[in-house]
Amino acid sequence: DSYQSTNFIQNIINTDLAEGVYGNRVHTRFPPEPNGYLHIGHAKSICLNFGLAAQYGGLCNLRFDDTNPIKEDVEYVDSIKRDVKWLGFDWEDREYYASDYFEDLYQYAVQLIKDGKAYVCDLSPEEMKAYRGSFTEPGNESPYRSRSVEENLDLFQRMRNGEFKEGSRVLRAKIDMASSNLNMRDPVLYRIAHVEHHRTGNAWCIYPMYDYAHPISDAMEKITHSICTLEFEDHRPLYDWPLKELNFEEPPKQIEFAKLNLTNTIMGKRYLRKLVEENYVDGWDDPRMPTISGLRRRGYTPESIRKFCDLIGISKSNSKVDITLLEHCIREDLKMKVPTIMAVLKPLKVVITNYPEGQVEMLDAENNPENPEMGARQIPFSRVIYIEQEDFMEEPPKKFFRLAPGQEVRLKNAYFIKCEEVVKDEQTGEIIELRCTYDPETKSGTGFTGRKVKGTLHWVSAEHAVKSEVRLYDYLVVDKEEDETEENTEQTVKLNPNSLEILSECYIEPSVATADPGTRYQFLRHGYFSVDTKHSKQGAPVFNRIVTLKSSWDK
Ligand code: ATP
Ligand code: MG
Ligand code: MG
Repeated sequence: DSYQSTNFIQNIINTDLAEGVYGNRVHTRFPPEPNGYLHIGHAKSICLNFGLAAQYGGLCNLRFDDTNPIKEDVEYVDSIKRDVKWLGFDWEDREYYASDYFEDLYQYAVQLIKDGKAYVCDLSPEEMKAYRGSFTEPGNESPYRSRSVEENLDLFQRMRNGEFKEGSRVLRAKIDMASSNLNMRDPVLYRIAHVEHHRTGNAWCIYPMYDYAHPISDAMEKITHSICTLEFEDHRPLYDWPLKELNFEEPPKQIEFAKLNLTNTIMGKRYLRKLVEENYVDGWDDPRMPTISGLRRRGYTPESIRKFCDLIGISKSNSKVDITLLEHCIREDLKMKVPTIMAVLKPLKVVITNYPEGQVEMLDAENNPENPEMGARQIPFSRVIYIEQEDFMEEPPKKFFRLAPGQEVRLKNAYFIKCEEVVKDEQTGEIIELRCTYDPETKSGTGFTGRKVKGTLHWVSAEHAVKSEVRLYDYLVVDKEEDETEENTEQTVKLNPNSLEILSECYIEPSVATADPGTRYQFLRHGYFSVDTKHSKQGAPVFNRIVTLKSSWDK
């Protein structure tokens, strides 16, 4: 594109800058809750928040929204930091924790009580729900709403002291039980939870609610634009409420955008955790998971994920992005960067009967046909090689240009071979070996033009190849046709029972024997692969298929 358009968030920021609202500052934050690993949806938010800060010469904080100790853990904090860094973003010394504000948040709540804006309520959760009313009916005021400031201060202090059972009391905002926005009908600000927190230990047994802690945390960090997803749109008056009641100057502004939904994907952390806990996948970083760590282990690059986030843009309406766009981004990124080598995934033995036994010759092979700068390597050729089972047919249809009895093909970087004989297992009738002849005059690179063949096959020298395990992945989730735009949720999700295929007898060019975990390749005719960081052993790499070579996006 030759021109740059601005999105709606940039338009808001541009207006604020023009009007000098925040003194020309742009300060965003990425506020994960450390209750799971980050996923590709979070990557969209990370790219957006850090991206805006970079674009406007502003700042972006990393803030752990750790106000709910029940599901939170340091394991998640560490993984989140690793993932944000890996994506290529740097929060420098701006690493914050909402739990660091527990004392401030408490004192602000005391202030609200003193101002008659908050009260301790003893209704049970069920009663509170009944009092709340509905979209069509106004709510009823709690009988505890008229408690005196003194009584509220005393009870709130005693809540903090640990004198009451969980669920017996809450602190509520005193707003409007008749509001057309249900979120404004005296929402809960604090709840009792006798639970140890991963940072504050047992210092607290009352914890602030998200809708109360979030705006104040933003304001304390002098955030200007607090970007969140669309579900929070009707919480916005509640976001603004404590900031107004507590007289924060230049209060931050909540802006909502549509979250990322992807076809064949489910993203809710709750559900991803379930897949991990029920051993349906090999951990949060299983290469089929939509987590950042899963994508990394699969072989995705940070560049490809950032590019994807760039391409999908941001909007105000929910939609579903086709996952093949993400696949397109990794193909495009790897195309020029990684070596193309030969790997036989389902081997068929071929003996070249007129090639001298014991002879090995080294042949030249380009490292990347699309990028000559990547140079060349030498690969061994010998009497016994492997080709792909599906590259041979005993009774081929008309347009089968691969190997067949009496038919000639080129071996990539090597010679023409012709199939002379098919050897079968006497018991099963299965083809176990082909006996072929080669023509020394047809060597690649010699300019042989005597005759032509229609097909070129990849192969490896049997004696030199590295026997490896290769893992082919399909989508974890099957999309139902009628759900083309619907997000996959825990209730609707249908798992794909065949999302993993393990090939345990693959033969790959010798160079991969020493490849470091994480190294990426193109396997000629197969796709892009990377050396698995979890299961590979010295000299015995395990490969993950990152992506096949083509999809509808590339045609
Ligand atoms: P999930 O529902 O998947 O568990 P979450 O919103 O509960 O995600 P948080 O840790 O609270 O997870 O998210 C941190 C930030 O990432 C929030 O600002 C949230 O808006 C944003 N975010 C979460 N999911 C997506 C998504 N699918 N697309 C874009 N942004 C997202
Ligand atoms: Mg959240
Ligand atoms: Mg969640």
